[in-house]
Amino acid sequence: MPLHLEVITPERAVYEEDVDMVIAPASEGYVGILPHHAPLFTTLGPGEFRVKRGGVEEVLAVFGGFIDVRGDRVVVLTDAAEHAEEIDSARAHEARERAQQALAAGPVSAADEQRARAALQRALVRLRVSERRGRRR
Ligand code: ATP
Repeated sequence: MPLHLEVITPERAVYEEDVDMVIAPASEGYVGILPHHAPLFTTLGPGEFRVKRGGVEEVLAVFGGFIDVRGDRVVVLTDAAEHAEEIDSARAHEARERAQQALAAGPVSAADEQRARAALQRALVRLRVSERRGRRR
């Protein structure tokens, strides 16, 4: 009995499939979920969301939100999610540059610094996930 996985953002349903295993970037660290996992509800950090399906590993980038595991149903509600193939790496490079420059210039406020750090983290996740494009087994 596979897991039924749905990944949903405010804009769209990014992924819906029956899958064999999920490795999710929970805020407190990566969690692996197999069928018959105990119920789980937790927050997600920005990170790589891995899906194993029929011997193939797919990777999504996800950015915050929640994962809800109940029975064999896994629902991910996240602010943004992208398949590796959808990531515009030039855009992510630019976002990384902008964030690094803001941090190097000395942000004007703690809130600005936090925003720049979060933007840098998003860009790094996107670059890492987009590098995995085409490396499916
Ligand atoms: P940028 O500064 O380039 O806009 P961001 O980190 O501020 O990046 P988000 O707020 O995380 O962007 O996302 C806004 C929307 O743009 C989301 O729908 C997200 O999926 C999409 N998005 C952001 N960056 C990329 C990218 N490099 N490739 C593809 N989609 C992206």
